[in-house]
Amino acid sequence: MRPFHYDKPATATDAVTNFRPGAQYFAGGTTMVDLMKLDVMKPARLIDISGLEKGRYDFIKWSGKSLRIGALTPMTKLADDDKVRARVPMLSDALWLAASPQIRNMARIGGNVLQRTRCPYFRDTSYEQCNKRKPGSGCAALDGGVTRHHAVLGTSDKCIATYPGDFAQALVALDAVVEILGEDGPRSLRFADLHVLPEARPDRETTLAPSDLIIAFSIEDADFPRSKYLKIRDRESYAYALASTASALRMDGNTIADVRLGLGGVATTPWRAREAEAALRGGPATEAQFARAADIAFAGASTTDENAFKVELGKRTMVRSLLETARMEG
Ligand SMILES: Cc1cc2nc3c(=O)[nH]c(=O)nc-3n(C[C@H](O)[C@H](O)[C@H](O)COP(=O)(O)OP(=O)(O)OC[C@H]3O[C@@H](n4cnc5c(N)ncnc54)[C@H](O)[C@@H]3O)c2cc1C
Ligand code: SF4
Repeated sequence: MRPFHYDKPATATDAVTNFRPGAQYFAGGTTMVDLMKLDVMKPARLIDISGLEKGRYDFIKWSGKSLRIGALTPMTKLADDDKVRARVPMLSDALWLAASPQIRNMARIGGNVLQRTRCPYFRDTSYEQCNKRKPGSGCAALDGGVTRHHAVLGTSDKCIATYPGDFAQALVALDAVVEILGEDGPRSLRFADLHVLPEARPDRETTLAPSDLIIAFSIEDADFPRSKYLKIRDRESYAYALASTASALRMDGNTIADVRLGLGGVATTPWRAREAEAALRGGPATEAQFARAADIAFAGASTTDENAFKVELGKRTMVRSLLETARMEG
């Protein structure tokens, strides 16, 4: 690991105003330290935000049906919150099914949504070709690499790396908003606008400026007791999703009044299946309708020989998640 400076500012304002080029925030450190050891991320300065203002950004607050969560809330704390589990189980499921207990205890939800891809060529600097790590160098995955885990939605001819996280699929489905403290003061951003497609610039993963600090996530309408996160992976623990679905339903008798769908393991960014949602709204909650919506969700998929199975797997995951959600109380 390369030498770096370490700062521990007392306040969020100090963290942002004293930010210098080459610095990087560090919350639980479970992504940062990995990537620094691998020499993929090389910050000259680490800004430790884990203890900012004695826990001011570690909170879970309900106000009616609105939920606001501090960005420094540990994954475990949010996953284990009784009200969250009862009122919006997909948020809790997505965290419980991620990583390991030790990582969930250390990691904070702000760092979680900004975790980097697990593409092996991104994480191994002995590969020269990686447009995400080294813009313009090519893509070892597309150039004959192993692509079983790569994305089938939102890809470009420059990068097909999968967005690896789970929690973000629930946030995007719930229309979450990201609260940010930047050099010009506080602002907010739709969670759906936080991550960007790889297109020509896979190295640019979010719309944040380097000094932007995420301080909270808010969800105006978080009351979805009939919701779940279904994650399919190679082994049942401590593995990233091959395909996952965050699904939420509101029923009016037998008719779907509202539906939310976030797809994981299959796309380059947290993926909202809006067209599939539109096809379901106002119709019956049947397996045939869910299968039709899944076809719509994956209509634009682009595959390699090795990851083509993700289209069928992704559809089946979505249908099963919706069927199980429909059987829930709510
Ligand atoms: C072996 C292993 C298995 C894993 N499995 C899964 C899994 O199955 N599912 C899953 O979802 N995740 C998984 N993870 C990823 C893990 O959940 C993330 O590493 C973790 O959530 C990141 O949070 P952190 O607080 O440690 O972030 P850090 O490592 O501290 O930071 C991550 C990034 O976010 C930035 N950052 C952090 N906080 C902020 C903030 N408030 N504002 C602005 N920038 C910020 C940092 O600069 C850095 O770039 C796994 C990780 C490991 C090591
Ligand atoms: S898929 Fe993306 S991250 Fe992986 S090697 Fe290609 S450019 Fe790099």
